[in-house]
Amino acid sequence: MSDWKIFLAEPRIAYFSMEIGLTSEIPTYSGGLGVLAGDTIKSAADLKVPLVAVTLVSRKGYFSQTIDEQGQQQESSNQWNPEKQLECLPAKVLVTIEQRDVKVQAWLYRVTSPSRGQIPVLFLDTDIPGNAEEDRHITDHLYGGDQSYRLKQEIVLGIGGARILDQLGFEIRKYHMNEGHASLLTLELLAHSRRPIEDTWDERNSWNTQAVTNKCVFTTHTPVKAGHDQFPYGLVEKVLDHEIPLDLLKDLGGQDHLNMTLLALNLSKYINGVAKKHGEVSQAMFPGFEIHAITNGIHPFTWTSPYFVNLYSRYLPSWATEPELLVRVDSIPDDEIWEAHCGAKAYLFQYIAETCGVELDPDILTIGFARRVATYKRGDLIFTDIDRLLRIGEGKLQLVFGGKAHPNDEPGKELIHRIMQNIHDYQDRIRMVYLPNYNMEIAARLIPGVDLWLNNPIRPLEASGTSGMKAAINGVPNFSVLDGWWIEGHIEGVTGWSIGPPPNGNSITQNHTDEDVEDLYNKLEKVILPLYYEDRPGWIRIMKNAIGKNAYYFNTHVMMRRYVTEAYCH
Ligand SMILES: *Cc1c(COP(=O)(O)O)cnc(C)c1O
Repeated sequence: MSDWKIFLAEPRIAYFSMEIGLTSEIPTYSGGLGVLAGDTIKSAADLKVPLVAVTLVSRKGYFSQTIDEQGQQQESSNQWNPEKQLECLPAKVLVTIEQRDVKVQAWLYRVTSPSRGQIPVLFLDTDIPGNAEEDRHITDHLYGGDQSYRLKQEIVLGIGGARILDQLGFEIRKYHMNEGHASLLTLELLAHSRRPIEDTWDERNSWNTQAVTNKCVFTTHTPVKAGHDQFPYGLVEKVLDHEIPLDLLKDLGGQDHLNMTLLALNLSKYINGVAKKHGEVSQAMFPGFEIHAITNGIHPFTWTSPYFVNLYSRYLPSWATEPELLVRVDSIPDDEIWEAHCGAKAYLFQYIAETCGVELDPDILTIGFARRVATYKRGDLIFTDIDRLLRIGEGKLQLVFGGKAHPNDEPGKELIHRIMQNIHDYQDRIRMVYLPNYNMEIAARLIPGVDLWLNNPIRPLEASGTSGMKAAINGVPNFSVLDGWWIEGHIEGVTGWSIGPPPNGNSITQNHTDEDVEDLYNKLEKVILPLYYEDRPGWIRIMKNAIGKNAYYFNTHVMMRRYVTEAYCH
């Protein structure tokens, strides 16, 4: 007996995201955006916030990464079987794509919290007999294919998703678009909230945009215009079937291209960026809209290593449901903090030995850098002056890297290659490894196991960043450029350290490479290494502050409560 109908008992917030990362067994995410979505859903389950999540099934996942002998990324498909882990729901809806009917079905995954809260996650799927062969592949590849493929995916997500919720009997209070990929759902809502034409004085006035706006919440994640999906109207007219007159669509989505961000901005009552700074940058980009900020978080239990779970559970019971309790970290003795950290470090080093055949030294300060590889994140910045790095770090430093570059991102792939080249050339002076196929499972082992978490993006391009929060909850201090969440979390020499000058203005790409590099080496040599080796109690103080002054606040429980009271209640 299928009991999914319990989810229909109360009105819900529909949370739409192109990617959702719940576990590494369901590879329907590429990086921070998807992991954030997964963490949001988990906190909603813990807090019993009535939410239903909608995403694509991405049967071939994002991709699996290996690094070959030449230090080049190789990609292979990461196929998974929803049939094995998920329940197929008894509803099919039709969307029209290139004038063909395409059937869409949904797989249900339940996120269940120890609090007994449960959130349904719907994975939309077009791989159904009866669909044209090419349409059966629309939900195969996350971020794969060309513009036309992407538009088809967004039709399935936005329009198919809204229709399937309706067909299943969900009553939706708000539609929350996590990034612009789902904003076609607004067109479906517009078509449904149309006033009878005879009641209005012209046809145009029959379209009740205000009714749609009242139902929608939009979170933007990208402070670069090129990061926002835009489709030429020629393509839109060919692929998408909708009732909205073209002149109205252009008023809402842009005159030259259908801009998914603009469409969402025009039809959402509450709009936010994902950190204070990112809210300001987005406000400067879109001056006609009121843009708020709700800083991202991480799900506390998911990202805390077993060593710290154990420790927190003894000293701060119920910390996982009430992470604010981490503010009381000083009740934990220093030696137990250090012991838990050494456990996490040994657990990582064992994994590195097994996968890379490299033995790292547990007594040496180990820096971690792993995330999606995009050139703005400057993963190779630490190699800028290799002689200086060797002088400072030989015998005192180890480096662990990880991260995938999008298969079409040639500069990103070259960046991996450059890091691999440096690892190859200087391995015998500073021990370094690049862990292949970075995913949630590896992240959960890597981040807690290093001593220092490095982040050096070009400001202000890091909208929030969340991996640094995963570090903080495991007592790993951040060493980062002042961008995204770190502007809010950083207290110099207390919670960690900054790299380069403070943020200044909201213009895109304030590139301070020279200053950043100088500060990076300088602080490593004069502040960080001496503290680590010569003042262990001082170092543990910083670890505790990362927990008590960062992790207690930068988590998805706090974030979710803010969405409920600031975004969903209007
Ligand atoms: C948390 C996480 C990210 C996000 O990292 P940022 O440094 O915030 O960009 C990316 N990938 C995986 C697998 C993660 O777990």
